[in-house]
Parts: sequence; C-alpha cells; structure tokens
Amino acid sequence: MLIFTDISSIKSHLNKLEKVGNIIGFVPTMGSLHNGHLSLVKKSILENNVTVVSIFVNPTQFDNSEDLQTYPSNIENDIGLLKSISDEIILFNPDSDEIYSDGIKSHQFDFNGLDKHMEGKSRQNHFQGVATVVNKLLSIVEPDNIYFGEKDFQQLRIIENLVFEKKINTKVVRCETLRELDGLALSSRNSKLSFSSKKIATNLFKALNFAKEKFSTLDIFEIEKKVREKIKAHSEIKLDYFMIADEEKLEPLISGNNKKNRAFIAAYISGVRLIDNIKLY
Ligand code: AMP
Repeated sequence: MLIFTDISSIKSHLNKLEKVGNIIGFVPTMGSLHNGHLSLVKKSILENNVTVVSIFVNPTQFDNSEDLQTYPSNIENDIGLLKSISDEIILFNPDSDEIYSDGIKSHQFDFNGLDKHMEGKSRQNHFQGVATVVNKLLSIVEPDNIYFGEKDFQQLRIIENLVFEKKINTKVVRCETLRELDGLALSSRNSKLSFSSKKIATNLFKALNFAKEKFSTLDIFEIEKKVREKIKAHSEIKLDYFMIADEEKLEPLISGNNKKNRAFIAAYISGVRLIDNIKLY
C-alpha cells in the first residue's frame, strides 16, 4: 500500500494516475478506523479505479483541546485494516504542519445557515474547521467522488454546500450509517466507552426510533418532550440536543411538512460526546 505524508508527492502521483483516465474516489477520515469508515472505502473501491483514504486528526475542528488530545488514534491498526481490504488503496497521512503550513487556523465560509443549529451551535467553529480541512484536501486529491457518512449528516450537508458554492468538480456521495447489532452507531469515540456505557448509549438510537414511530401521529413538540423524558430517565446520559429538521436546510421543524425530515440527537455518555440521526421517511 502506498503511503504519502507530503502534499507534493501525493499530488504528482495522483496527477499521473488521472492523466491516464483513472477515476479517483476519496474517503477523508480522522483514523481509528471501524467498519463504518471501511464501508465508505469499499463503496469507493467499487465506484472508482483509484481510492485515496486520508487519516488526519484535524485540529481546527475541535473546540476543546482535551477532546483533541484524547481523540483515539491507532495508525498501525488502521493501516492493517486498509490493507485487509485492498493493497491498492492510497493512504494520505500528513501531519498538521503539512496541512496547515499557513498556520493552524480556519478559513471562513458561509454555510447558508446550515451551521445554525445542532453541532454548529454546540461546537464553536467546528464546521469552519471541517470545511477548511476538506477544502484543502479536495484541492490536493482533486477526486471525482468524495465519500461522507450520513452518521454526521450536518457535516455531509455542509460539504455538499461547500462543493456546490465553490463549484468544485467533485461528486459528494452519501453513505448510510453502519451500526452495532444493538443499534449503536459505529464511531471512533465508542472505543472510549466502557461495556456498560456502550449499553446505555443504545438509548440514543432507541430515542430516534421512538421519534420515527410517532412522527406521523404525535405533534413534534410532544415527541421532543417525550424523548427528553426518556433520556432523563438515564442519569448517565446528558442530552445536548434532540431536534427534528428537514434534510435540506436543517431548520428545526415546528409542524409537519411534506419534506424529507430527520431526527438528530447529541449526548454525553460518561463524558463521551456521541451524535446520531435517522431519517423519518
Ligand atoms: P471521522 O473519522 O469520524 O471523521 O469519519 C470519517 C467519515 O466516516 C465521515 O464521513 C463519517 O460520517 C463516516 N462515518 C463515521 N462513522 C460512520 C458510521 N457508523 N457509518 C458510516 N459512516 C461513518
């Protein structure tokens, strides 16, 4: 497997591959890979001749230095997992100085209001950091297709908006959320949870499913109230937000509409912040 750590080497390698007609798929990640990430990689391999995976824990998207410092990382294991899928994957694993040679700071983007609620509200400058790094990575890899998980649905919409507004010649491919058998969405952060915290964390998915079940019969205010009550019954869970919003604008829903809607949740379980969402259609 080819592993690049500097921008100029990966750029010149990919330029050569592109010149001879290869279609390039790109999966950006922060490492500590699990089957959710790997499902994106497998989709890219099916849909492109060349797949590039990046592993880079992006400092500018963390609003909390402790969260950044304790973010799980296991590069040797990640390389093994990628190799087990295909030796032909190209890995880009730069360090911060390589990506932020202009200083570790975010550029400023206008997300047309997509960052107003949920993660944008709870995590200051999070999406400016995400868009900064994805914009940089897109200009390095110049992929035909880029793969993002619906697990981070607001992030996915922010990137779709970025690609559209900047007229970047890349298709954003949406990928379904992979879950444990008990419904817990796979996340690198799950490795920070004890066995019992993991069990408790399944209540997030249960709450989302409750919302889905009641969406056509109860009004939204009632659903939100009941979800809050259900979560409150578990003292180990600290709810950050529960929200129902339309997929396009991510505006909170006040009453029923005929758009595609999703229920979103974020909560701390034993101090670990988890997010999840499901479609309501
Ligand atoms: P991360 O390393 O957390 O930045 O995630 C890298 C990519 O993997 C993002 O596009 C995520 O949305 C996606 N991803 C993370 N968890 C899952 C999951 N459980 N199922 C599908 N995609 C996921």
